[in-house]
Amino acid sequence: MMPCMSVSKPPLITPQKHDTLSEFSLKPNKSILSFTKTTDHPRFPDSHLNYLCRKGRLTEAVTVLDSIAKQGSKSKVRPKTYINLIDACIDSHSIHLGRKLHACIDLVTEIDVFVETKLVSMYAKCGCLNNARKVFDGMRERNLYAWSAMIGASSREQRWREVVELYILMMEDGVLPDDFLFPKILQACGNCGDFGTGKLIHCLVIKLGMSCFTRVRNSILAVYVKCGKLSWARKFFKRMDERDAVAWNSMISGYCQIGENEEAHRLFDEMCNEGVETGLVTWNILIRSHHQLGQCDRAMELMRKMESLGISPDVFTWTSMVSGFSQNGRTSQALDLFKEMFVVGVEPNGVTITSAISACTGLEALEMGLEIHSVAVKMGFTDDVLVGNSLIDMYSKCGELEAAQRVFDIIKGKDVYSWNSMIGGYCQAGYCGKAYELFRKMQESDVPPNVITWNVMISGYIQNENEDEALELFQRMEKDGNVKQNTASWNSLIAGYQQLGQKNNALGVFRKMQALGVSPNYVTILSVLPACANLVAEKKVKEIHCCVFRRSLEPSLPVMNSLIDTYGKSGNIVYSRTIFDGMPLKDMITWNSMISSYVRHGCSDAALDLFDQIRNFGLKPNRGTFLSAILAYSLARRVDEGKQLFSSITEAYQIMPMLEHYSSMIDLYGRSGRLVEALEFIEDMPIKPDSSVWEALLTACRIHGNIGLAVRALEHLLELEPGNILIHRLILQTYVTYGIPDALKVRKLEKENMARKSIGQSWVEAKNIVHTFATGDWSKTYSNLLYPWLHCMQKNVKARSHGGFCIEEEEKEEISGIHSEKIALAFALVGSNHSPQIIRIVKNIRTCADCHETAKYVSMTYGRAIYLSDSKCLHHFKMGHCSCGDYW
Ligand SMILES: [Zn+2]
Ligand SMILES: [Zn+2]
Repeated sequence: MMPCMSVSKPPLITPQKHDTLSEFSLKPNKSILSFTKTTDHPRFPDSHLNYLCRKGRLTEAVTVLDSIAKQGSKSKVRPKTYINLIDACIDSHSIHLGRKLHACIDLVTEIDVFVETKLVSMYAKCGCLNNARKVFDGMRERNLYAWSAMIGASSREQRWREVVELYILMMEDGVLPDDFLFPKILQACGNCGDFGTGKLIHCLVIKLGMSCFTRVRNSILAVYVKCGKLSWARKFFKRMDERDAVAWNSMISGYCQIGENEEAHRLFDEMCNEGVETGLVTWNILIRSHHQLGQCDRAMELMRKMESLGISPDVFTWTSMVSGFSQNGRTSQALDLFKEMFVVGVEPNGVTITSAISACTGLEALEMGLEIHSVAVKMGFTDDVLVGNSLIDMYSKCGELEAAQRVFDIIKGKDVYSWNSMIGGYCQAGYCGKAYELFRKMQESDVPPNVITWNVMISGYIQNENEDEALELFQRMEKDGNVKQNTASWNSLIAGYQQLGQKNNALGVFRKMQALGVSPNYVTILSVLPACANLVAEKKVKEIHCCVFRRSLEPSLPVMNSLIDTYGKSGNIVYSRTIFDGMPLKDMITWNSMISSYVRHGCSDAALDLFDQIRNFGLKPNRGTFLSAILAYSLARRVDEGKQLFSSITEAYQIMPMLEHYSSMIDLYGRSGRLVEALEFIEDMPIKPDSSVWEALLTACRIHGNIGLAVRALEHLLELEPGNILIHRLILQTYVTYGIPDALKVRKLEKENMARKSIGQSWVEAKNIVHTFATGDWSKTYSNLLYPWLHCMQKNVKARSHGGFCIEEEEKEEISGIHSEKIALAFALVGSNHSPQIIRIVKNIRTCADCHETAKYVSMTYGRAIYLSDSKCLHHFKMGHCSCGDYW
């Protein structure tokens, strides 16, 4: 294969003057060979070679030259003939034949600067810039023509630094650029930000009297603009006696680049006033810059205006529009524009297609994506790497991995994004083995994995519970992959552990990272904070909060919002409020985090006060806000206001309530004992109630002793979650305790429950160590100390406990042994010398009424504050009362 072919521009095979293309075939055709089989070549090779060249029989010509060279004959060819042959190679893009010609250069009678320059051009035009440079460097004499060829070649390949270096060598050689070469060199200065050289050239141009050439003047202006020296540009622009559209466009785009669109618009008006015609380019500059500032609507206005002035948007205008809307998250509008572009008959380019596909990815609009894919195929973009990468991404996000793989296989010249997208796609879908296979292949390809690839593999493994592989890669990446770990590598591990529920490991990685001096960023903080969203991790939240301070991450709104939430969940509502009050900027998530923290702590008044503030400030509450507000009304037992709010969600705010809003409404009715209304509400629900709704009803029945309704709720729950052991247990208790005559059902359930041991567990923190207790577990060292205390406590509490309707997630203590939260409480109070003023316990399932009473009693008799979070809510016991209002 010819490596240069893939680098070159789209196949420009246009040598129609030749008879057939097949004669350029690399494998010489036998019948053609027989024509030149004659071992003694013609006496005057020039005329024969020129004849073959004119006929386009280049392969034969090269064979003739080759055989002359091999025979060591004294025959030579004239430079003109040789140049003709090279030109034919350039036209037919045959670098292979060109190289053969180059090998025969000794046959040329006189190797002059033109012959060598032609070779430079040939290599350059076939995309072999390094070969071109080699020939160029070996030239004995280099004139302007040669320098122009070399500089032009480097410029075409966008090697701007090299162009500037060549210019300096050229000056050392004593050759001066002309008015065609200066713009090329100046363009390079602008594109690599070489203001110094640009300024020197400006001086030289004045000295040489070349500033009269418009193209040279405009190029100097462009250097100043591109190097961000707008005051220089402005001065130069003012002094220009003749300013064409190119000059105006330079100035306008300069101001757009630095985001000063208003100044750009002012110049635009001035340009019109001076009678310079504003063309497509000018409009496109303005439109693009508005998109870059996220002002999509302004860009849209401009496009409509230019249309009304009779200037039709071209492919660049449309591409700006599609990609602008897509990048600013307005994906469906991006797709509408893409369709409109077709209607008006403008053909998209690769960038337009890429942007449209990305828009589909954002929307997971597979069908539209497929349509655009087929457009891309029809227009020949199948092996375009940008289009391909966006397709891989789109298909992976939509779960169509086979389609993604097919696209991946076709892409020529895959880059690191192609590999990363494909590997990421497999990881996301849980096919880590497939991903690793590709990862290995990538290591052997000419695109080695970069840090993103390694990170993608690490998070892929850990998210799919292959912790060991993830850690192995994490350790290997620096040594084997020659890739330095970055903050994102650590973040992948932390987020992975967090997702696996291994909170301590997540925190461990976070600490190790800090010990090694790796700076956490806001993503790290956002990954690690949820690991501390529980009562026994309050000190860890403070530790992370300190880190946020040290790393100056406070300006990050998501970090502060997450801190409010985490402090709330770890039982420190005062800190949540302090952070909330100290934030100069708040978004709806800030407000929601604070309100939901108050609701969690049973502080309905504070929550509703903030909710009123939101409405008074004219802010727009969202689904989360409404959910917390309904729960706050429920806590406050303000049923009618809650009902009113619920109906306003759709009527006044046009938001569709979700299942969680419905279940919070059941809570609202249930807490106030309005069970019939709760049931009616469920029956009227426009969506199918899920288990959260029935659970809310069950809680209401449990508290208010409505067995009939409880059975109904339980049967719905069993239907929705047949494998849930807790529901089985609740049903069993209800049937047995209240003598419901469905013996068969009961026996079946009993059988299933036989092997099931108690699953109740509690955690309590003491002196920085988290202790775990299981229900009925007496193996702890302190049991001889705790047991007598618990025994005594039980007698006191029993007398107080109400005899209501009692079905519990945990077996009665007579069967299961003492409940874990009680042991934890005893441990915190009498298990150590210094029992804390605030006791924090986490329980994995709903705490029972008996334990709830015990905690209330202890909070009064011992004067302690007790926080207990179970699977239902956060209980804050103080002076014999609980924040849940005995409803949980
Ligand atoms: Zn209990
Ligand atoms: Zn409570």
